[in-house]
Amino acid sequence: MKNYDYIIVGSGFAGAVCSAVLSRAGKSVLVLEKRSHIGGNAYDCKNEAGILIHKYGPHIFHTDSKRVYDFLCGYTDWYNYSHEVLARAGDIEFPVPFNLNSLYKVYGEEKAKELEEKLISSYGPETKISIAKLRKSADKNIRELAEFVYENVFLHYTIKQWGKRPEEIDPETTARVPIFISRDNRYFQDKYQGLPKLGYTPVFEKMLGHDNINVMTSVNAKQLLSFKNNKIFFKEAEFEGKVIYTGALDELFDYEYGPLPYRTLEFKFENHPVTRFQSHATINYTHGMPYTRITEFKLLTGQKKEGVTSIVKEYSKEYSPDSDSIPYYAIINKENNLIYQKYAEKARTFNGLLLLGRLAEYKYYNMDKIILLALELCDKLLGDVL
Ligand code: FAD
Ligand code: UDP
Repeated sequence: MKNYDYIIVGSGFAGAVCSAVLSRAGKSVLVLEKRSHIGGNAYDCKNEAGILIHKYGPHIFHTDSKRVYDFLCGYTDWYNYSHEVLARAGDIEFPVPFNLNSLYKVYGEEKAKELEEKLISSYGPETKISIAKLRKSADKNIRELAEFVYENVFLHYTIKQWGKRPEEIDPETTARVPIFISRDNRYFQDKYQGLPKLGYTPVFEKMLGHDNINVMTSVNAKQLLSFKNNKIFFKEAEFEGKVIYTGALDELFDYEYGPLPYRTLEFKFENHPVTRFQSHATINYTHGMPYTRITEFKLLTGQKKEGVTSIVKEYSKEYSPDSDSIPYYAIINKENNLIYQKYAEKARTFNGLLLLGRLAEYKYYNMDKIILLALELCDKLLGDVL
């Protein structure tokens, strides 16, 4: 049976970008999405106060890839926004990533100047160093500074987020938020950053709006697709096209090799009868409080509204496949990667099954990386390399 050239499971950035590119190239595409809406974790919508919120946590677009930026420009204009985050560690506050402004805020003029000179002579100006590396400095004063940053930025936040200490998780994770020897307070230094002017959901509506695409929401692909004897079946008939799968692999193969460990989040949304709730769009609670961070949506998106504002608090928890929760963060380590490899090997036995996305690849990808990977996969598919 070949009603469609492609069946794409999931309508997040991975699925939607592939659908957009393949449909424009004349391919017929069926998108299966188990949620009641498109957009995956980047979905946004207006709440009861009329404020646009990100239902699955704050999403800030940033990339150095001109290809990714240009692609998205075909679907949206931008609200020009650079993300800045304040860390609140008990009763002290400073910018994160911890930078030279944070240093002066914490240590005062004289000591900060001394440390700044040492940092610059050890690592150079405008450089980024992971906390793991800073803690190994040969200089005693830099090591003391590293301990302060470890304790007040990373330790408690990481325990809240991962249930583990920073040295027990993949070092790439804390390296996402390095110590930055700079006066630049922005969370990201990428060339292109901002938020889609009208929100993310209209971007997905446009990407999935092509006549060659049929989108079915509230449908778990497992109801329509099955994988047996190295063959893919769609509604019980053999499917000769390709399936791009962007969901979790353990779920696809009925947890045959055991569940893949993930962290999930609980989002607590609140409306407050004030025009502005906090000083920065996001405040990270690096010490104290059970939540990791609070984001105020109006400050992210530039929405104007007097007398009311909407915030979200994020609580991280262990994920269990038999709950209603969503697997948000792969817990990347050797042991879990081995489980993943078993599933990936099984997936390779099905000709025509392609894995793409943060879930399907069991990776910690940002949106821009997923968009780039989707564009590159389509290059290969349309060039008949796969
Ligand atoms: P998803 O968006 O998860 O989409 C997968 C889709 O597949 C989902 O809609 C799911 O319902 C569907 N699906 C799964 N299984 C099935 C099935 N069996 N049948 C049918 N449908 C199925 N990135 C940034 O660049 N900037 C940020 O600021 C940022 N903030 C983030 C904040 C949080 C709290 C989180 C969790 C992530 C954040 N990200 C951010 C990362 C971003 O969410 C991901 O890079 C992006 O969503 C990945 O897209 P995807 O299509 O791979 O996955
Ligand atoms: N992190 C931290 N304190 C912070 C910010 C980040 O300890 O104030 C660590 C924490 O382990 C977190 C990781 O760095 O999970 C990556 O942070 P990022 O802000 O990139 O996380 P995301 O936005 O993807 O949840």
